[in-house]
Amino acid sequence: MNKKILSKSKISKPKYKILFVSSELHPFAKTGGLGDVCNSLPRALKALHQDIKILIPAYPFAIEKAEQIKQVAQIDLPVKGFPGTLGLTVETNKVHRVNILETKLPGTHVKVWMVESTLYNRPGTPYFDDDNKEWEDNDFRFALLNYIAVEIAMGRTELKWHADIVHSNDWQTGLISVLLEKEYLKKKAVRPATVFTIHNMAHMGVYSKERFDALKLPQSLWNHHELEFHNEFSFIKGGLIFSDRVNTVSPTYALEIQHEEFGYGLSELLAYRNERLSGILNGIDMKEWNPAKDPMIKKNYSIKTINNKQTNKSALQKHFNLPKKKNTLLLGLVARLVYQKGIDLLLENMDEILKLPVQIVILGSGDLELESRLRRWSNKHPDQLQLQIGYDEQLSHLIEAASDAFLMPSRFEPCGLNQLYSLRYGTIPIVRKTGGLADTVIHASKENLNNRSATGVVFQEAEGSTILDAVNLTSLLYQNKDIWKKLMINGMKQEFSWKESAKQYLALYAQAIEDRNKYKRHSSF
Ligand code: ADP
Repeated sequence: MNKKILSKSKISKPKYKILFVSSELHPFAKTGGLGDVCNSLPRALKALHQDIKILIPAYPFAIEKAEQIKQVAQIDLPVKGFPGTLGLTVETNKVHRVNILETKLPGTHVKVWMVESTLYNRPGTPYFDDDNKEWEDNDFRFALLNYIAVEIAMGRTELKWHADIVHSNDWQTGLISVLLEKEYLKKKAVRPATVFTIHNMAHMGVYSKERFDALKLPQSLWNHHELEFHNEFSFIKGGLIFSDRVNTVSPTYALEIQHEEFGYGLSELLAYRNERLSGILNGIDMKEWNPAKDPMIKKNYSIKTINNKQTNKSALQKHFNLPKKKNTLLLGLVARLVYQKGIDLLLENMDEILKLPVQIVILGSGDLELESRLRRWSNKHPDQLQLQIGYDEQLSHLIEAASDAFLMPSRFEPCGLNQLYSLRYGTIPIVRKTGGLADTVIHASKENLNNRSATGVVFQEAEGSTILDAVNLTSLLYQNKDIWKKLMINGMKQEFSWKESAKQYLALYAQAIEDRNKYKRHSSF
């Protein structure tokens, strides 16, 4: 009897040693949603009593933000002649040694390990130099992270810790499952189970055959069933093929990427691995994004004090020098200004949109041409459209709190976080029906308004005037204060916390372990 109870509690409360590997981690290094997710999910897993460690590169700007950081280990890369620093010199026969620095995720007990190497000791962002040019040796830089992850996961370091699960994220970590598979075949050692999360299929880490050779990857993997991708090789393919389980950050995106339009040449592979592919919706950090306590906004508010939102609107209008109009629909947009985000769609319809009684504020940076086209509109209509190019965490909070509605006309959106922040802040999201946007926003149709499920405005096509029609509808809804308030409140009542998603990840880890034990190994090493 006792035995039974014990085994039952074991099943319902697994405790895994998880190595969570990423190129971004908020607040140390973030260029987009990946950084946010890699902060929130490990915290939620820790709250579910998991032994989780995060591994990222020790970028100088990350070290700067870390508190009580200390060196805890040194690791020699078990690859001779691994490519060297920026000049792409090859340190033949020299062992590449890295330091492992340890800190914690601020305000938590989650340990963060940072890999310190000359390859990361540069200014800029994780991927770009100060002139927004991609580092030429990003393949070497992230391969290093992958090799070190394997050493740690296999328990071969001074850290005296090994992983049951390695959870890799996006192409920068795509070789980990490949190297772990090789590990198993080489020594028949038990390897950790592997999970690979796709945060964005558009970034695939594609490099030449010469670079593949320089990275000392097994030549047998150079075939189109494995790492070769149209005469080059792709990091992400490694993650997709060799991981025990693959997932994306929303159920709809998991389906979309199995189709040509969204699969970037890998849709067939994804469809083939369909049984190992799933979607788990991202949550949001409910503490950081809480209008009732957010220190970055002008006036806090909740459903009960919803009218205080107006004070934020005035503050934002002041910040951008927009006329202080209380009853003009204020639309916000915070994003990377790139094709994915449908900025060109917005631009094509800008003339007509600005004929409506609206004001628009945009915060972001990205494609230079899109930036300058936006700037031209802003110069032409400064009383209606204001733009701030750059990255500004605090202003992004104020825009969420102050705007009446929030624009997300994305062509594709793996999950999207801003529509979730918007819902929580009583700011009506205007979204295109794709990926995570389709999974989280319910259109304000007559029926959905009547049954009180509507939370936003959803449009279908990424073409023509659909975005104009959506803004038009939003403007009409905004005229009716009762309907508008209901929409706001419906949104604010939604729950997108990480707790539920983290439980789904635990189930995914269990499946990954099962698959690792069950399936035949790859044999082409
Ligand atoms: P993606 O990861 O594709 O960029 P997401 O919606 O998943 O898009 O996440 C973007 C995150 O980055 C959000 O937290 C958003 O607020 C933030 N963000 C994007 N651009 C800026 C900016 N210019 N200033 C501040 N925050 C930004």
